[in-house]
Amino acid sequence: MKQRLTVLGSTGSIGTSTLDVVRRHPDQFEIFALSAATQVDALLAQCQAFTPRYAVMASAAHAAQLADKLKQNNLKTEVLQAPDALETIASHAEVDTVMGAIVGAAGLAPCLAAARAGKRLLLANKEALVVGGALFMQTVKDHGCTLLPIDSEHSAIFQCLPEDRSTWAQRVHSIILTASGGPFRQRDPATLGQVTPAQACKHPNFSMGRKISVDSATMMNKALEVIEARWLFGMAPEQIRVVIHPEQIVHSMVQLQDSSILAQLGTPDMRVPIACGMAWPERISSGVAPLDFTQMAALTFEAADAVRFPGLHLSWQALKAPEGTTTVLNAANEVAVAAFLAERLPFDRIQAVNQATLAQLVPHERPASVAALLDLDAQARAVAAQIAQRWVV
Ligand code: NDP
Ligand code: MG
Repeated sequence: MKQRLTVLGSTGSIGTSTLDVVRRHPDQFEIFALSAATQVDALLAQCQAFTPRYAVMASAAHAAQLADKLKQNNLKTEVLQAPDALETIASHAEVDTVMGAIVGAAGLAPCLAAARAGKRLLLANKEALVVGGALFMQTVKDHGCTLLPIDSEHSAIFQCLPEDRSTWAQRVHSIILTASGGPFRQRDPATLGQVTPAQACKHPNFSMGRKISVDSATMMNKALEVIEARWLFGMAPEQIRVVIHPEQIVHSMVQLQDSSILAQLGTPDMRVPIACGMAWPERISSGVAPLDFTQMAALTFEAADAVRFPGLHLSWQALKAPEGTTTVLNAANEVAVAAFLAERLPFDRIQAVNQATLAQLVPHERPASVAALLDLDAQARAVAAQIAQRWVV
């Protein structure tokens, strides 16, 4: 039986890599539904190639354009248009697996819908977990959802951890996330205010979406990943450490009680963790060339510089603060990154917005529902947008 897949965010960097793996295994996977925000022609081309039953666009105007073009091309894919269309394609009875590859908190509701429907959920959309926190993991547990990490670090940790989760508390000492350090690892921190969006989006090893590229440059990506690891693996914040590894060959590590350390290595290409999640516990080819150790340069490791990367420690701070604080941090960062990409906020003020938002908005109640999470997210966006005004350029 083929696995039937919904790909949320299919036109993005993770979405297209996912479809590349699907294309290599037509006997094992078929596409049930695809989604995008604004790229109508890219989604049309994917509908031509994969003939999904449904396609979803983020706005009615884009949905209407796609529906027209599908008709002109005699394609049978139906465009679903409703506020909860993403949730529909994520939870449909005929879907086995959902790839969550939307960027930002916008992916929360559809990922939760997949979890509630007990799907196999391949999660790249780390913000959904950072926003959803305990509620997200409880939903996964209550509805028998199989949650498989796609973020390369978390896929590495998942592969290195003992298979029997009940042994982790006894056997696992800590987890070590590796970080590339991004494009400004060696740049004079005093010049970070002049960084342009194009410079920030030029990652040394990966071609990724613009938001995660900026997050990598500020190391907020690693801060979000510390929070993601806390929820995925149930580790205490003190059990999660970060080390810079510019070559990005070691994707992350697990330290056991006897100080043995297990690492997962591979060519830095997201198709590896994507193929791993798609086939788990089996293995399939990803289309990625394996490492050639005889051609490899030295692998190096260094500590993260707190002056250059002031956002990194915010993850531990937020995890120790009242529940909901990670939701606030994520919202602030989405607002700050969008302002930077629109050339309205200097690069070195992104963390100032994040810190000031955390200081101003302390959640008083545990967000106990999706509505409460989205409400807190909206409040934090409003606060962050106001704070960002201080540094408007
Ligand atoms: P991209 O920006 O490349 O793609 C995002 C996708 O989501 C696109 O299909 C986009 O549509 C769609 N989208 C954007 N905003 C919305 C919205 N408001 N509602 C519905 N759909 C939306 O991002 P990436 O693929 O780089 O990243 C996706 C997720 O995976 C992020 O959470 C990121 O942190 C995570 N991730 C990415 C990695 C990478 O290598 N890229 C590595 C590890 C994790 P459209 O194309 O029409 O704009
Ligand atoms: Mg990652």
